[in-house]
Amino acid sequence: MIRKLLHRVFKRKSSVSTSISNDSGIRPHIIPLKQHGISRNHLSPCALKVTIDLQQAGYSAFVVGGAVRDLLLGIEPKDYDVATNATPEDVRAVFRRSRIIGRRFRLVHVMCGAETVEVSTFRGNSSIEESDGSSADKHADEHGRLLRDNVFGSQEEDAVRRDFTINALFYDPSNEEIWDYLKGYDDIKAKRLRIIGDPLLRYREDPVRMLRAVRLAAKLAMQIDDASAAPIGDLAPLLRNVPPSRLFDEMLKLLLSGQALACVVDLRARGLHHGLLPMLDVILEQPLGERFVVLALKNADERVRQEKPVSPAFLFAALLWHEVLAQWNILRTAGGKPMLALQQAMDEVVAVQNKELAIPRRYDAIMQEIWAMQPRFLGRGGRRPFRLLEHPRFRAAYDFMHLRCESGEMDPELGHWWETFQRVGASEREAMLLKDEAPKKRRKRRRQPESAADVETSSASSDADTVIT
Ligand code: ATP
Ligand code: MG
Repeated sequence: MIRKLLHRVFKRKSSVSTSISNDSGIRPHIIPLKQHGISRNHLSPCALKVTIDLQQAGYSAFVVGGAVRDLLLGIEPKDYDVATNATPEDVRAVFRRSRIIGRRFRLVHVMCGAETVEVSTFRGNSSIEESDGSSADKHADEHGRLLRDNVFGSQEEDAVRRDFTINALFYDPSNEEIWDYLKGYDDIKAKRLRIIGDPLLRYREDPVRMLRAVRLAAKLAMQIDDASAAPIGDLAPLLRNVPPSRLFDEMLKLLLSGQALACVVDLRARGLHHGLLPMLDVILEQPLGERFVVLALKNADERVRQEKPVSPAFLFAALLWHEVLAQWNILRTAGGKPMLALQQAMDEVVAVQNKELAIPRRYDAIMQEIWAMQPRFLGRGGRRPFRLLEHPRFRAAYDFMHLRCESGEMDPELGHWWETFQRVGASEREAMLLKDEAPKKRRKRRRQPESAADVETSSASSDADTVIT
């Protein structure tokens, strides 16, 4: 019996090939529990339930993608995906708490308690099938970018249309087997990130895969294999054709991966940062800016490691800060009033950035508040520090100012002052106020402010928030 099984497995293994085929020519290599060691108890309860329920309803269903990969690497999966031959409507009929999402490709979200599992129907890849021949592919743009990948397919096709071999493993909890069509298991063991199929074609189809390669290699401590890495530099400009909102999503994943600094350094080394993040083009070349950005990224990585939340708005505010500063300086030198110039600089930087990578509006507003509050840290007399302390965004703005002190952009004494000011009681706070920064008399407020500190002084008796935002 075991012999027979081994024989079958061996036969299957020998027919595994990385060549792309749209028939069912690829046979999976089946890896038993004894070899891979992932029992069904490792799965989240929802992933297990969804897979088993689908199977009991007569469909085939597997946990697939990042979760299988992470389990094999000893990492706790963030979320679970299930792949099945059931259509979205079939899946919807099996689970009461489920809803169909997505217009272009319809998926089903199945909810169990607080957990949600994403269920997708096996999909083929129309571009791969057709780009073998010389005929033009109507599902791709002129650069080869896939515009449509919404055709149902077989399980093999579903494996082949995925991005990397390590992301194309299927786990069947009922018999605890892993089905491997593309030698992804060997790649996991060798810590090798290998794109499925022809690298050139696959990056052209979806340039975001280049960013995913960088992120996954850093997150999983893997090497991108030579053939998969080679075309990246040349194809980097294709990222310009990707919708900005998609770039934002991928960039956010990268920045919150816990390996943001390593990723950004690698993006730069591979020439992927140009056009993607204009701030990186400029900033990483400037010693001061570099320190600031590096500190911000290190901070974010440390927080992810400590499982503390990281605010995307804070991170993007940090990444763009030196662009804002540079623009602010230009506008002030040209005679602009400091706070108006700051507002204009912020608007301009956000507008330029959004052409490349669309930062959602909800983050825009927070970023702008963090930036606009920076000059207010200079005002340490009168009631201004008290008002600043009460601002709902004080904590983020303070952390940001602290980063500026750490990077050498601001006098560290200012950071210490604010750190102490928050900590001590009411009478000590009064004693800390700088007398020479007390609010000026009313008539003095009329003069044109010279610096950001003057702005603080001059707006002391008004509500500085309304001046700034
Ligand atoms: P993580 O969730 O840790 O970021 P992941 O690999 O699970 O990594 P998801 O974005 O959740 O990433 O994608 C789930 C699966 O979908 C992947 O494992 C892969 O099989 C497939 N996939 C994701 N993005 C692409 C892509 N651009 N091209 C082809 N397949 C993709
Ligand atoms: Mg995932």
